[in-house]
Amino acid sequence: MPEVELKGSDVVVVGAGNAALTAALAARAEGASVLVLEKATRELRGGNTRFTGGLFRCTYNGIEDLIPIVGDNDDPSTVLVEPYTRDDFLHDIARICGGQADPTLSEILVDRSYDTVRWMADLGVPWEFNRAVGAVTLAGAEKVKLPLGGALRTQGEGVGLSASLFRLVEAAEIPVLYETQALRIVTASQGQVTGVEVRGPEGIRVLNCRALVLASGGFQASPEMRTAYLGPHWSLVRVRGTRFNTGEMIRATLAIGGQSYGEWSGCHATPIDADAPAYGDLRLTDKTNRLSYPFSIMVNLDGERFVDEGEDLTLYTYARMGREILQQRQAIAFQIFDQQTIPLLEARYSTGTPVVADTLPALADRLAERYGHLGFQKERFLETVETYNAAVQPGVFDPNRRDGKRTVGLQPEKTNWALRIEVPPFQAYAVTVGITFTFGGIRINGEAEVLDHLDRPIPGLFATGEMTGGFFYQNYPGGAGLMRGAVFGRLAGTHAACLARERRS
Ligand SMILES: Cc1cc2nc3c(=O)[nH]c(=O)nc-3n(C[C@H](O)[C@H](O)[C@H](O)COP(=O)(O)OP(=O)(O)OC[C@H]3O[C@@H](n4cnc5c(N)ncnc54)[C@H](O)[C@@H]3O)c2cc1C
Repeated sequence: MPEVELKGSDVVVVGAGNAALTAALAARAEGASVLVLEKATRELRGGNTRFTGGLFRCTYNGIEDLIPIVGDNDDPSTVLVEPYTRDDFLHDIARICGGQADPTLSEILVDRSYDTVRWMADLGVPWEFNRAVGAVTLAGAEKVKLPLGGALRTQGEGVGLSASLFRLVEAAEIPVLYETQALRIVTASQGQVTGVEVRGPEGIRVLNCRALVLASGGFQASPEMRTAYLGPHWSLVRVRGTRFNTGEMIRATLAIGGQSYGEWSGCHATPIDADAPAYGDLRLTDKTNRLSYPFSIMVNLDGERFVDEGEDLTLYTYARMGREILQQRQAIAFQIFDQQTIPLLEARYSTGTPVVADTLPALADRLAERYGHLGFQKERFLETVETYNAAVQPGVFDPNRRDGKRTVGLQPEKTNWALRIEVPPFQAYAVTVGITFTFGGIRINGEAEVLDHLDRPIPGLFATGEMTGGFFYQNYPGGAGLMRGAVFGRLAGTHAACLARERRS
């Protein structure tokens, strides 16, 4: 590993997640000297990326597009894949984000998605089919139907992705400075970026560079920024991933005239185990998620349903389901399953301990024993289940598509996957809200350059990943976060290296 040249690098990259390391690798491939700054220790490195399920949403025309990516790592004869086109991906973003997502950024994300996954595969990141998240394995079925747009994940999930990217960074002789927190962006009198002030083992100092790429995540791990932008109820929520994404470089960018963009009061938040730790645990990574709720009814401490659990497929509702739970008393809900749906639960449920009983009254009693101190209403709970069961309409249950098997006459209705809860033993999983990442951030253009308030690039400043705004509003299609980081990471690294080359000559 070369000594870090403190007089200056062509490109300094802030952060060491997927967005940052794809940027670093792209810049290095263009011949730039690159330095990566990581706020965390070496042991805790890798940001939210390391906690992920490694799911990347991308376009493909069919299995033939996926085979070159997974190579020998997986067996295509064991899966069913439907095409996921450019129009499908764009339509998903538009419908899920209420038509508010930036159209230019969305098109680049979609148009570069497949190509970027192939680029990562060519670099040496290994891939496999995603059978885990949003895919349902039916007993006795020969093939698993992969979720639309979510057919691929990195081998070893986020831990594997992070390890592969660090291996590639090391092979490319890109130095990483650990325990080094970027604090402030340094500019020359004309406004161009010339370096970054950092706080690290050597104290506070300035690292010079010809181009700076920011990829230091959202502000979800900062209680004060959550309170200020998301609202007071978000102050105490659990954080699903890293505790290091506290938004200081978003603020630093605004301080030099960068434009804020996107939904600052919005975030990705999911149902997680009610006993999950305050911050992500690297032994559990994303395994505290509780995403099989479309096959359940969810009730709150008052024993009431509060949301259409079956509005859409999991990957299109889970990111906003956390907010629904936050609005319930004590931010707690219970997912109720019977033996018809328990075999469909994601494997991640095995990390939790459900309340189990042979009858519904016994389940209500056990929930009351455990949650009575929080005011659990067991009589109301039993009425809710009875009313729900009576409202379930006939139809064919199909966990792999919106099956239209619904209730009639409830408020709220359950519009898909409505089965009566009637086959014992019954299980109840207690869940709360876990924040994943924030939607508001800084504005970039199609070359990942940071824009000022007149939509002009700030010379020498690029950004990618969770810290950029304008991509997601209210909700998010699963797997689009890693894809966004890699598409714009690659663009940021490439353009930063080109700018550095110009500045050198
Ligand atoms: C449990 C969990 C599961 C998820 N699963 C998926 C999934 O399967 N698919 C998907 O698309 N998305 C998933 N996500 C969303 C995911 O967070 C993002 O898609 C993606 O990992 C974000 O990448 P990033 O590089 O922008 O940020 P991160 O990976 O969080 O990287 C940010 C980096 O910046 C560093 N940093 C922060 N501040 C500073 C500073 N001031 N100076 C220096 N370094 C700093 C951090 O230490 C970290 O290394 C998941 C998130 C979580 C928490």
